[in-house]
Amino acid sequence: MKKILFIDRDGTLIAEPPDQQIDRLDKFVLEPDCIPALLRLRDAGFVFVMVSNQDGLGTASFPEVDFHPPQNLLLDILRSQGITFEAIRICPHKPADLCDCRKPKTGLLLDYVKDTTWLRDQAAVIGDRETDVKLAENLGIRAFRYDRKSLGWTEIARQLVDAPRRASIERKTKETAITVAVDLDATGPIKLATGLGFFDHMLEQIARNAGISLVIECKGDLHIDEHHTIEDTGLALGTALRQALGDKRGVGRYGFVMAMDEALANVALDLSGRAWLVFDAKFPRDRVGEMPTEMVSHFFKSVSDNLAATLNMSVTGDNTHHMVEALFKGFGRALRPAVARSSGGDIPSSKGVL
Ligand SMILES: [Mg+2]
Repeated sequence: MKKILFIDRDGTLIAEPPDQQIDRLDKFVLEPDCIPALLRLRDAGFVFVMVSNQDGLGTASFPEVDFHPPQNLLLDILRSQGITFEAIRICPHKPADLCDCRKPKTGLLLDYVKDTTWLRDQAAVIGDRETDVKLAENLGIRAFRYDRKSLGWTEIARQLVDAPRRASIERKTKETAITVAVDLDATGPIKLATGLGFFDHMLEQIARNAGISLVIECKGDLHIDEHHTIEDTGLALGTALRQALGDKRGVGRYGFVMAMDEALANVALDLSGRAWLVFDAKFPRDRVGEMPTEMVSHFFKSVSDNLAATLNMSVTGDNTHHMVEALFKGFGRALRPAVARSSGGDIPSSKGVL
C-alpha cells in the first residue's frame, strides 16, 4: 500500500520571491534541507506528488516559456539526487477563474481521491500556505505547514519517518470487553487491569522486558472462569502489536532469548506474518494464583494468531511461578529486538513484505 506526500512547490521546495512568480533562473533558490529530507522520506517508502498553483500560467502575465526553465532545473536537480515525482499537477488559473483545480480544491487530484488503495493515515500534504492545509483537509489527510524557521524539512521528515508506532484497539464480545493501547516507541505508561492479579503481573513482564508502553483493561466473565479473559486479552494484544508494527519497515524481525532462574526458558520469535506456536512445558502445578497453567500456552497461541508471528517457546524448572514468569519475560525480551527499528528502514524479508 502506497504512502503519498502531496508537496507544494513555491515557498516549500523553492523559495518564493516577493512577486510570487518564479519565472527566471536567477529567482531559483532551493529551500534549506529539502533534498536530504526528501531522500529520507523516499527511503522510508514515501512517493511524491507535486501540487502547485501557478497563477495565470500560459497567459501574457506568465508565459509557459518563462515557467519551464526554473521548473526543469528543479526536476533535474532532484532527479540527479534520486528524487522523482509520481505525478506533477499544476493549476494554471487565477482565483477569479473559479476553476475546480486550484488548491485547496481537489480537482487536480481526482484520480487520487477515487483511488482507495493508498494509505490515508500515512499520507500528508506539505506546503507553506493555508490553502495547502485546507487541501489536506479536503483529501482527509494530515498537513505539515512548512515554515523555514518553525517547521523545516528536517523536522517534517523526522515526524513522518520516526512516527511513533502506536495502536489502540477495542474488542468486545459477550464474554469480555477489552481495550489495549500499545506504543512500541515509548516505555510507558504500563497499566494492566484484567481482574487477574497474577496475569497482570505477567503482562507487565512482557511490557517491561520488551521496553514498550502497554495499557490493557479487560472486563471479563470472571464469574465463570479465567479462560475468556486470558484468551481474549492475548488475541487483543496480538492485534494491537500487529497494528502498531504497520508494514514492519526497519524492524529487527527476530528475537531470541534464554531467561534463567532455576527455570530455563527459551523463546524464539519471528514477526513472519504467519502464525505458528511451538510450546513445550510441563508445569508441576495446574494453577498459579488465579491463572490455570493450561492457559499459558493458550494465551501465547492467541497472541501468535493475531500478531501473525512464529513463537517457539519452551521452559523447564521446578517452580511453576518461575516457569510461567520466565516465559512471559522471555517473550518480552524477544519482542524488544524484534520490534526495534534500525536506521536502514528496509523491510527485513527477501520477499519485501512481512
Ligand atoms: Mg506555496
